[in-house]
Amino acid sequence: SSGDYKVLLLENVNETAIKIFEDQGYQVDFHKGSLASDELLEKIKDVHAIGIRSKTKLTAEVLKHAKNLKVIGCFCIGTNQVDLQTAAELGIAVFNSPFSNSRSVAELVIAEIICLARQVGDRSIELHTGTWNKVSARCWEVRGKTLGIIGYGHIGSQLSVLAESLGMHVIYYDILTLMALGTAKQIQNFDEFLGMADFLTLHVPETPETKNLLSAPQFAAMKDGAYVINASRGTVVDIPALVQAMKVGKIAGAAIDVYPFEPKMNGPDLFTDDLNVWTSELVSLPNVILTPHIGGSTEEAQSAIGIEVGTALTKYINEGNSVGSVNFPEVSLRGMDINQQDAVRVLYIHRNIPGVLKIVNNILSNHNIEKQFSDSHGDIAYLIADISNVNFKDIQSIYDQLDATDARIKIRVLY
Ligand code: NAD
Repeated sequence: SSGDYKVLLLENVNETAIKIFEDQGYQVDFHKGSLASDELLEKIKDVHAIGIRSKTKLTAEVLKHAKNLKVIGCFCIGTNQVDLQTAAELGIAVFNSPFSNSRSVAELVIAEIICLARQVGDRSIELHTGTWNKVSARCWEVRGKTLGIIGYGHIGSQLSVLAESLGMHVIYYDILTLMALGTAKQIQNFDEFLGMADFLTLHVPETPETKNLLSAPQFAAMKDGAYVINASRGTVVDIPALVQAMKVGKIAGAAIDVYPFEPKMNGPDLFTDDLNVWTSELVSLPNVILTPHIGGSTEEAQSAIGIEVGTALTKYINEGNSVGSVNFPEVSLRGMDINQQDAVRVLYIHRNIPGVLKIVNNILSNHNIEKQFSDSHGDIAYLIADISNVNFKDIQSIYDQLDATDARIKIRVLY
């Protein structure tokens, strides 16, 4: 029953998640900080779910202590802190929150478009240091200008809507053919696209193809006096080439939120040589806005992360639904009729080897298989089956037979 579920929440995971778990009747053990490693080993022994952010390292060693653990929620974007492969081999699904801060990034980009067009960064720096410099030369309204969005995914498409409401024309470039929102227009030819935009903003993932996506030839293809905004990943813009394009006046301003190297924590003296290489020339140029990777950092994004990950864990615990998991086959079966007295849902996580489904279906064959779905992800496979015509005493027998199969990793029977 749901009251038997124990959830360990560390690192001040957002209260929206606590509420979701408490509403389900789970037992929640909440801690504001991370735990010392011996304490973590002790606590993780008997919990069914754990929620962490970036500080808690769930290594193979830690996971092997987690005898009852079924699911891990990373209440953040990154999942490097978890040994994903070991988790999958132990039948533990891992979820994160890739999209809950999309809106926050899009809003920051809108602000930066206006700030670049009006040279707000420079005026602010000047006044902070005692200089009154009221100018209108080469300051513009954004109404009627063209915004070029590279990558029309969660953030790019949200930005498209916001920019149009300011009266901007929106064009976008993406490797996929995507439906345009509002009156935006997809441009297939990258060079043609680059030559059309007054403002260019990047919203692509970090991949081999997006490394230095904007470099010297691309800057050359842009309009004179265009502006560049990068809040995607630090590898996507070739910063020395950007500096060069700004020095010759080709690019009139840039806002940068992400860098090829970023300090691991906050503080004044973290400008290591690595970061300096990328920022030292930028800081000496006019109309450059530099921010420390804050595109997605808002209170709203934190509460949205709590809801997104909290809901994913609950669906996995209650229904076996693994859609959105980062290390696991993505399987979902809707419509389990929990009111139907003789129906159960079987969740069977197993090694992906030939012949397993035949054995499993043999075990289930005395009952009526209403629906089933299975998928694999590397070495791991996951089957969900809804079966009816099951007596209470059959449940233990189904469980025991599945438990005796060679390929099994983890089994649950929900009823
Ligand atoms: P998404 O996956 O929803 O969209 C990415 C889009 O880029 C997709 O439409 C994809 O087809 C397209 N794309 C991929 N490769 C491409 C290529 N070579 N050329 C053109 N288009 C390509 O991603 P998202 O959630 O919109 O995030 C976009 C970026 O923003 C990611 O790099 C993400 O890490 C970053 N991000 C930054 C912050 C921040 O704080 N600055 C916060 C959240 C996300």
